[in-house]
Amino acid sequence: MPSLIISGAARAALQSLDHDDITFLQNLPKAELHAHLHGSIPLSTLQRIATNYSPSPDIGAGVAATIARLQSNVVLTEISEFFQLFPAIYALIATPAALAEATRDVLHAFLTEQPPPSGFAHHPAPDCSYLELRSTPRKTTHMSREQYLLTVLSEIRAFPGRAALIVSVDRRMSEEDVEECVDLAIKLHQQGEPVVGLDLCGNPLEGNVDTFEKHFDRAREAGLGLTVHIAETKLNGHSIESFILLSWHPDRLGHATYLEEPQRDIFFLGDIPGTQVPQIPPPNGQVPDPIPHHHRTFYALWRKHVLLLSRRYQEAGFHIDSQDDDTGERAPREVVREIQALRDLAGKQYKPCVEICLTSNLLSKTVPRLEEHHIRHYLANNHPVVICTDDILPFRTTLLAEYALLLAKPPHGLGLSRDEVRKIAEMGMNARFMNRKQT
Ligand SMILES: [Zn+2]
Repeated sequence: MPSLIISGAARAALQSLDHDDITFLQNLPKAELHAHLHGSIPLSTLQRIATNYSPSPDIGAGVAATIARLQSNVVLTEISEFFQLFPAIYALIATPAALAEATRDVLHAFLTEQPPPSGFAHHPAPDCSYLELRSTPRKTTHMSREQYLLTVLSEIRAFPGRAALIVSVDRRMSEEDVEECVDLAIKLHQQGEPVVGLDLCGNPLEGNVDTFEKHFDRAREAGLGLTVHIAETKLNGHSIESFILLSWHPDRLGHATYLEEPQRDIFFLGDIPGTQVPQIPPPNGQVPDPIPHHHRTFYALWRKHVLLLSRRYQEAGFHIDSQDDDTGERAPREVVREIQALRDLAGKQYKPCVEICLTSNLLSKTVPRLEEHHIRHYLANNHPVVICTDDILPFRTTLLAEYALLLAKPPHGLGLSRDEVRKIAEMGMNARFMNRKQT
């Protein structure tokens, strides 16, 4: 039985709630849609797997030392100590048996009744009603990528209708590796396995996502949902990459912490509730007159953006109306794609659900304080969000504790009402990839 750990702000928020509030949160149907398998393994499970581990000769001294610490049931307190575990976790979870054991405990930690973490006295309850677990299929000396996925899926199948898998591809992967992962995801999905989506993950400052688009397109055509980690750090925020990722129109966005206003305005049409999608003016930048007041900002930004793109495109020696996308040069190709994406927007409003991981953002220091969290922007604009944990192992939280951060009164939480929290939970359930309405 995995044991749950909660610390820091999430712990303080949960502690500040009374019994009724906790029961209310426990009874809400909740979907956990952004949980990485390796980052969600309970510490007690890792310690058990480490105890039974017979080291392979090729593990380095650092990994061996970490595994020895786990074997001695060391108490970890600092976030950095948890992150230092990851090389050891990959070494420990390299066989089908260890992977199955870890996956089983992660599924139980989320989906079956768990005793409350130490210091809490609430009733045992499942942490969520539905889980989309994500993982990058890792090839090891003991298993192929396909065996990896089949091992994880064999555990997920024990929770029919309540658990599913999102296949993650890592930004640092070669195109062949991405192709192999996507081929497997599509094949398993078509065979009726609970593979429901494709994710883009990995160090946000590495890799070139440009070559991945066609593979994400293939996955969408095969019926998989798409989610991407986007604008995770300040350096990703205003970059061309966020425009490229948004132009893929993923169904959900991971974090989206540093999406800038022009990106939100252009792609989400300023998040203006209830507005009709405006007719996008032609690339000469002519703004129709008169235009409704609430479209003005959008048009102004749109115009500025298209003119900027046009200039860059022309500077690179291409004509703005050329649809030639095979110039072989990175900048012009991006520009064409962005302009096409903007044109595509004429027909539809795009409101991808944003996967919000409060504790993860606070501990990773991408958000300085809860009250400055970007969830406020999305809630104020009626933009769908889902509350998720990301990695419960290093961040020492649970989905219940993340919901406590919504309901708890300041300074422990955002102080939302029960109705607001109920609505957020519903938005999360509606954003599931399983049984989603195909668009
Ligand atoms: Zn993540």
